[in-house]
Amino acid sequence: MTNKSLKFNSKTIHGGQQLEKGYGAVMPPIYQTSTFAQITPGEHKGYAYGRSGNPTRTALENSLASIENGKFGMAFGSGIAAIDAIMKLLSPGDEVISNNDLYGGSYRLFTQIYEKYGLVFRFVDMNNAKTVEEHITNKTKLIWLETPTNPMLNIIDIKAITKLAANRNLLVAVDNTFASPYLQRPLDLGADIVMHSATKYLGGHSDTVVGGIVVKDEELANKLYFIQNASGAICGPMDSFLVLRGIKTLHVRMQRHCENGRVIAEYLNQHPKVDKVYWPGFEDHPNYAIAKKQMKDFGAMLSFVPKASNYNDALNCIKKLSLFTLAESLGGVESLVGHPASMSHGGMPREERLKIGIVDSLIRISVGIEDAQDLIKDLEYALQ
Ligand SMILES: *Cc1c(COP(=O)(O)O)cnc(C)c1O
Repeated sequence: MTNKSLKFNSKTIHGGQQLEKGYGAVMPPIYQTSTFAQITPGEHKGYAYGRSGNPTRTALENSLASIENGKFGMAFGSGIAAIDAIMKLLSPGDEVISNNDLYGGSYRLFTQIYEKYGLVFRFVDMNNAKTVEEHITNKTKLIWLETPTNPMLNIIDIKAITKLAANRNLLVAVDNTFASPYLQRPLDLGADIVMHSATKYLGGHSDTVVGGIVVKDEELANKLYFIQNASGAICGPMDSFLVLRGIKTLHVRMQRHCENGRVIAEYLNQHPKVDKVYWPGFEDHPNYAIAKKQMKDFGAMLSFVPKASNYNDALNCIKKLSLFTLAESLGGVESLVGHPASMSHGGMPREERLKIGIVDSLIRISVGIEDAQDLIKDLEYALQ
């Protein structure tokens, strides 16, 4: 049986992995070394220098490629470093179309670093593929999207967007951090590049910061490998090991994350002190049909607005929570809560923020895998 024919729940454990040859270690050793001995100049056992490659990193890169149904994986020092490498495929004057409700760090990278180097970004509402098409010019080289979006939980139809790219000389890249490959695999839907902040669900234990890229096309992979080595934002061996370990339980964690996500979403939705809950698993969510079609389940990220609340009420509600930790980030086993207006999207002008629905009292939660009843008790106390 080849690794390629495995189902997802086996790929997380075995995909792209080989038994270590020295002693048969079941987990790949952490090759904590900067360099590798050469027999004669240029002749070595596959690794010459730790930036260009490291066996522990290779094990993670092969795992990433396997779980995303791609061929080539690359691991970086952070999710942002992975996005940075993708942007380096472009040249001054090239245009990028991106969804407008974007991870704050990606927005900052695009507008405060890459605009300076002559890339042009158009931030559009991607709920309708037609809107995206209207923004394509002969300079458009990349469509960048995130789905579900942060923090409004909109769902973008990946297939409808990748269809636009067919017969045009442009790439489609999907930031798959929020969904994880357990829920959706963008390469299967026609995307050219899938990117991850492995810091979140892939690592899954809030103990490391890592990024990843997976592609199918060899020429594109070679360009990205060149950038990875030339720009150097690689993932270290210890961090590679931690994410590899995390991926082995991804499917089990995600199943529980989704179960808990549903319980919490439904609890909040019927609560008299809650005005609005954003979660793609509700049948009246505007993108429910797309979510059902392109995702295996609806995930454990959700946002809500307490009734008749302002900035301070929302902060007071958050402060009363004890099982939900107030922190940036998401996707770990522990539940986290955030306040987008002051945290993840604090750098966005208020009018821009309100336009996409990020009101002052919006609260975002990443539902962990604790007992759902304990999480409800915590929320009930905070809402009262
Ligand atoms: C966290 C995150 C990133 C950035 O990843 P880092 O690992 O923090 O650099 C990018 N996109 C999304 C959707 C994220 O949640």
